[in-house]
Parts: sequence; C-alpha cells; structure tokens
Amino acid sequence: MHYRDKTVAVMANSHLFDVLIIGSGAAGLSLSLRLRRDLRIAIISKRSLAESSTYYAQGGISAVLDESDSIESHVEDTLGAGAGLCDPEMVRLVVEKGPENIRWLLDQGVEFTRYTGKSGDTDYHLTREGGHSHRRVVHAADATGKVVESTLESDVRALDNVTLFENHIAVDLITARLLGHREARCFGAYVLDIDTSHVDTFRARNLVLATGGASKVYLYTSNPDVATGDGIAMAWRAGCRVGNMEFMQFHPTCLYHPQAKSFLITEALRGEGARLLRPDGSRFMPAFDPRAELAPRDVVARAIDHEMKRLGAECMYLDISHKPADFVRGHFPTIYARCLDYGIDITKTAIPVVPAAHYTCGGIMTDRHARTDVDGLYAIGEAAYTGLHGANRMASNSLLECLVFAHLAALDIEQRSDNQNEPLPQVPPWDESRVTDSDEEVVVAHNWDELRRFMWDYVGIVRSNKRLARAKRRVSMLRSEILEYYSNFRVGNDLLELRNLVDVADLIVTSAQRRRESRGLHYILDFPEMDPSQQQPTVLIPDTYSPRL
Ligand SMILES: Cc1cc2nc3c(=O)[nH]c(=O)nc-3n(C[C@H](O)[C@H](O)[C@H](O)COP(=O)(O)OP(=O)(O)OC[C@H]3O[C@@H](n4cnc5c(N)ncnc54)[C@H](O)[C@@H]3O)c2cc1C
Repeated sequence: MHYRDKTVAVMANSHLFDVLIIGSGAAGLSLSLRLRRDLRIAIISKRSLAESSTYYAQGGISAVLDESDSIESHVEDTLGAGAGLCDPEMVRLVVEKGPENIRWLLDQGVEFTRYTGKSGDTDYHLTREGGHSHRRVVHAADATGKVVESTLESDVRALDNVTLFENHIAVDLITARLLGHREARCFGAYVLDIDTSHVDTFRARNLVLATGGASKVYLYTSNPDVATGDGIAMAWRAGCRVGNMEFMQFHPTCLYHPQAKSFLITEALRGEGARLLRPDGSRFMPAFDPRAELAPRDVVARAIDHEMKRLGAECMYLDISHKPADFVRGHFPTIYARCLDYGIDITKTAIPVVPAAHYTCGGIMTDRHARTDVDGLYAIGEAAYTGLHGANRMASNSLLECLVFAHLAALDIEQRSDNQNEPLPQVPPWDESRVTDSDEEVVVAHNWDELRRFMWDYVGIVRSNKRLARAKRRVSMLRSEILEYYSNFRVGNDLLELRNLVDVADLIVTSAQRRRESRGLHYILDFPEMDPSQQQPTVLIPDTYSPRL
C-alpha cells in the first residue's frame, strides 16, 4: 500500500536527521509541513500517525475571521478566561497570527463547514463557544480534529523529506549532560520500537516535543490513551523548567454511559442553546454564573461537580432537544450518531454527562520561538507552556496555539540550520546488558490504576491541603517502585508511560501545593479566594536545570 512504503520498521538502531519531531498531532504534523523541503525530518509517533488528541477535537479553531469581531476582543476574552495569569504578549502574538494560520490550513486542503447567507454568498460558518464574546470558531461540522488531522496526515505522507516512525515511543532525550558535559544541549532521543522491542538511537540537531497533554493521569478523561505527558516528563528530566501544572482543565460534559469510553460532548452544543439540567429536569447554571451555560469551562465543571456531590447524583443532563431535530442532526452529526449508538436520541431527550480531565494548560516552558531551556530542544502544542492559557484555557484556542507555534518553531529551526555545521557527537547505544524481562507485569497495571484513581480523588476539580499531602505521599511511594522497576527490567510501552505519568503527577501535585489561593482551574477548599499577591505563574525548576548562556 502506498502509505506503508513511507513507514519505516527497520532493525537498524542508529538514525541521523536534521529535525526529529516527537508527536504527530496538529502541532507535529503542521511543523513538518512548515519546514523547508531540504531538511531531513523524522516524525516519531507512539501509535498510528492519526491517534492523538487532535483527531478527537470536535468544536473547532478560534480566530478573528468576521468583520464584527476584532483582535482586541479575542485578546480580551483570552485574558479574561486566563484569570490574570496569561502572558499578554504571547496572547497577542497568537491571536494576531490566527487568521493567517486558518488560511494556511485551507491551503493544505482542510475543508471547514460553510454556509450560504441571505444574499446567496457562501462563507465559513463560525460557532461561538464558552468565554468567547463573538462567533469566531471555524469548524468542520463536529469533527474538526478528524478533518484537520487526516488532511495534514495525507499531506505529510506525500513528502519525500519526511520519514515516519509509527509505533515508536521516545524513552528519553539525549543531552550533553548525559554525555558528561555541563551545557544544556539536546542531541536526540532514545526511542523504543514497540514492534521489535529494540531501543534505537536518533540523533538530530533540532528536536521538537509535540507530544500533547497529560490528562491520562486522571481516571476519567476525554483524551486518548497516548496523552500520558511523555514530553513534559522527558523535558523535565532533561533540565527544562515547567510552568502552571496545577491548571488541569476538566471538560464539563463527557457522555456518561458504561460503554462510552471518554466521549466528549462539545461545548458548541451549549453555544447553540443546550441547557444543563438536574436529574429532576430543573436548570441550574443561572444560579452559579450570569453567563449560565456559556460560562467558562471551569465554572461549568465545578457547578456540575457541586450539584452531583450535593444530590449524590451519578451525572447531570445536557438538553438540546428543544431545537429543531434537523438543526441538531445537521450541526452535530457525530454526537447525534454516537449517542444514538447508546440508545440516546438527542433530538428527543437530554444527554447524561459528567466532567472529565481534558486539557493540560501548563507544560514545558517555551519562549516566542518555541525554544525550551535546553539548546536544540523545542516544545509545541499542548506539551508546551507558552503563557497563552494562563489559569484556564479558552475553548478552541489550543489548536490555534499548535499551529502558531509550529510555524514559529519552523522559522527558528530553519535559521539555526543555516548557521550550524559542526558535527553531532557520537552517542552510546541504549544499554540493555543489565536488565531482564519482567515476570510481574501486574505491578505496572496495578500502579497505573492506583495513580489515576488517587489523582482523580485527591487532585481533581476540587482540592484541599490534606488531599494534596496524601497524593504527594502516594506519588513518592509509587515513584520509587516504578524507578526500581525501570532500572531492572526491559522497558515496554506501559512502563514508559507509567514512569512519565508519575513524574507528571508529581509536577501537578507540587504546583498545586505551591498555589495557596483559588484561581482559574485550581480550586482549593483551604484557600477559596483569589489572592492578588499570587498573580504569577508557578514555575518548577529541576535539579538538572542550568540556564542557557
Ligand atoms: C475530545 C477532545 C476535544 C477537543 N476539542 C478541541 C477543540 O474543539 N478545539 C481546540 O482548539 N482544542 C480541542 N481539544 C484540545 C486539542 O485537541 C489538543 O490540545 C491538541 O490537539 C493537541 O495537539 P498536539 O499536537 O499538541 O498533541 P496531540 O494531538 O495529542 O498529539 C500528540 C502526539 O504525540 C505522540 N506522542 C506522545 N508521547 C510520545 C512519545 N513518548 N513518543 C512518541 N510519540 C509520542 C502521540 O502519539 C500523538 O501522536 C480537544 C481535545 C480532546 C481530547
């Protein structure tokens, strides 16, 4: 098959590229398409290329595309959602670059939903989502991510300068420090070929982490299995600072059904008039916020959590059945079909919903060129902390962030590539001489479950000092068990992900303990108010950090 020709599954264990991109969501794929064709690029992806959060995005991508809208308004809404913690310069940078990035996607062949106006002209249909004061979300019905990811994937597969490594998981970064030098410099990564169980060496002058978020650290999540925070954990171990990890966003409305594995009900439904109801059919959002169902996600998620706990209810309900059935089916075909699979006809009845971990607002600290603290190492997309989202991400700003920083990283990498000629150092191959095959896989499976459950119970939507301290103790215990396991046994996908999840859990708990106030997505019972003296990001600095010269 044509696709397979470009996918490499070789036994060779040493590779050299100009640019190594880890991750094949919107961030990784768009970066590879943005880079010059004379650069030799590798894309590493844990599963198939498409398996990513990007693929499951429903709502759309925000940008100022309507005459009645303005850059100022998009900036203002983003700053408002971020609860005082956005970096205003970064917000402006991203928002200003919004329209050109949407045009770029159109040039790549992405087909967004259009509508025909009264005059007979057609234009892109824009939806309005929570926190946005205008209609500014361009979308492909309710399957935007699938359309974007599939289009970019077929474009990338057609490129001769890009080699794809599917079913490959990056284990750790190869840094100067690992080779016994002091400077903060990245030369590549060790990568496990999941099919052959070999760890290969990839050297590259430029390495880009486009590994997505870490929502799998929670028991309930809207994210696919790949979202285990690998990039954040690898960068942390390699000496990068991470920021704002306490701000995990919980999507208020995931389908509540025993057979539905994390199926999200987009907030565009609320944008089009859906109402949140208690089990007795009464509406509750107006009592929590004047914006009612259009309040930002954290407000809606907490209100649902509050009502569920108060009433001892298993779920709340989202109802759009008062809208014409044709309208509902036309605007939300995926949700309509998926709910119908579970016997719920959303044109006639309300949808049972619960909140679930959805988006990692914090991540690897990067500058306006997507550079990290380590020379030659970039981070883009959900893995990065750019300052755009602050204490709370506004809906549909994340795909935009992926596109904008992929482009900015591409420009910076190209400039570096023009100025660099010195050869890359030789690096030692992965050492497997002292390890054996594990005879107790149950340890990994058990620790996975334990970690995700206590993160849900103790570090979820509503936190407390006591719960965080409890979580911290458990993280430390699990971490030492997992590290012992990691040192003695041959690495496999589950162990690598678990090792990363426990590092990320530690970063989340530590950050949450540092913030002694409630702000944005971080709500803690011991400090229920916002404290103006704490209006700064939480920055964690690893022992391995050495500032760039
Ligand atoms: C259900 C859902 C709906 C959403 N809806 C919207 C929306 O409407 N609008 C919006 O703006 N945002 C939305 N988001 C958020 C948005 O989709 C993500 O923030 C964005 O897609 C992240 O893109 P990314 O490229 O950074 O990461 P991802 O798309 O998650 O891709 C990460 C990639 O990295 C790979 N990877 C990870 N670790 C490793 C490793 N160790 N080795 C090799 N490969 C690795 C993965 O396999 C994957 O290919 C939604 C998210 C979800 C889950």
